[in-house]
Amino acid sequence: MSSGDGGDGGFKGRRVTTCSFCGKTSREVGPMVEGPNEVYICSACVELCQNIFRQERRRVNTTGGTLSDIPAPREINEFLNQYVIGQHQAKRALSVAVHTHYKRLLHAESETSGDIELDKSNILMIGPTGSGKTLLARTMARMLKVPFAIGDATTLTEAGYVGEDVENLLLKLLQAADFDVEAAQRGIIYIDEVDKVGKTSSNVSITRDVSGEGVQQSLLKMLEGTVANVPPQGGRKHPEQQYIQFDTRHVLFICGGTFVNIEDTIRRRIGKSRIGFSAGEQTASTGPIDRQKERADLLAQVTNEDVVSYGMIPELVGRLPVITPLMPLSNDALVQILTEPKNALMRQYQHLFSLEGAKLTFTDDAMETIAKRASKRATGARALRAVMEEVMLDLMYELPDQDNEGAEYVIDANSLENPRSLKELRVQRTKSA
Ligand code: ADP
Repeated sequence: MSSGDGGDGGFKGRRVTTCSFCGKTSREVGPMVEGPNEVYICSACVELCQNIFRQERRRVNTTGGTLSDIPAPREINEFLNQYVIGQHQAKRALSVAVHTHYKRLLHAESETSGDIELDKSNILMIGPTGSGKTLLARTMARMLKVPFAIGDATTLTEAGYVGEDVENLLLKLLQAADFDVEAAQRGIIYIDEVDKVGKTSSNVSITRDVSGEGVQQSLLKMLEGTVANVPPQGGRKHPEQQYIQFDTRHVLFICGGTFVNIEDTIRRRIGKSRIGFSAGEQTASTGPIDRQKERADLLAQVTNEDVVSYGMIPELVGRLPVITPLMPLSNDALVQILTEPKNALMRQYQHLFSLEGAKLTFTDDAMETIAKRASKRATGARALRAVMEEVMLDLMYELPDQDNEGAEYVIDANSLENPRSLKELRVQRTKSA
């Protein structure tokens, strides 16, 4: 449609015209754009059209198009590798599960779907704090360009208790999709700390849902696929409110939890089926490295049975067919996290220095020191940021005061043990001709 017919086309403000789309007059809705043959459109209809185009583009970008548009597991894995260090088992499992999920979506929509219905493969990630569970889920959503929301199972309550309703998770997804319900219904929700709503978990607060089972039940409903009524303003539901109907059938749920000491459950199970194995292994593992390796070996064998013994209701675990462990990060992995990912912390600081015209270098031993300090805090890679901020605070404070053009600063392990001023870290170069 053109915006007018050359000479007098374009905005029609003087004459009373009628929008050919909604039938309102220019008196009601203001100026309109004229097309050929007496066709008019008002600004509200133009906006509506734009929304439709946007939704359509999003649909094509995500799960529209053809099966071949869905990235292969290998491509997904390679994308994850740019941001997430290690965790190969989890990356592979996620890549396959997510690929299958979106394939299933297309399959369900195509006319040739026949009678075979593919089951949804929601995912449960088990691994210590700061090992990359959230990062994996977030990176995945970024790659697929689908709406993504994060929730925390511990803030959820059974309907009627004080706290968040499960519907609020869906609201977050809607918000991430600019209230495009279609797009949100194909999004990804990451639910953290699902282990904390375990039936037998000692962490459950006594001020609410005593068993934690109620929360699991409402999560179960959402994972199974239900049409939920989402209050568009969030907060508690109340009868007079208009709800948004949200079908969760096609939402991919990724759950995460630390499941502290689940290794013991796994060991017991394995011990039971292989008599004599556990006793021998216990005496073999003495040092911290051995123990870490043993933990990793055990974690790699986690099954849904172990998760049920931990206090999750079997129905919910049944809806999380993909269970994958994440390993505690070694010091070497922490060093890699500092330096290798696209937005690695070290690169961020180097960039900040480059904005001042200066170059910043960390020696290998400095990075190892930072990794060691971080791993003492037992919060995985999360501690890296805090340690790095501490190390850099004074230097960042001094940076703008220096004459930085062409300056180069080197941080080594020694300067971390005995902090020095930025000036003292500057490399003195003799000017060559
Ligand atoms: P979790 O959800 O397992 O507790 P997160 O994914 O939130 O941990 O990790 C916290 C931060 O630590 C991330 O934002 C990221 O910067 C860093 N991080 C954690 N694990 C990794 C990893 N495997 N590779 C790269 N960065 C990581």
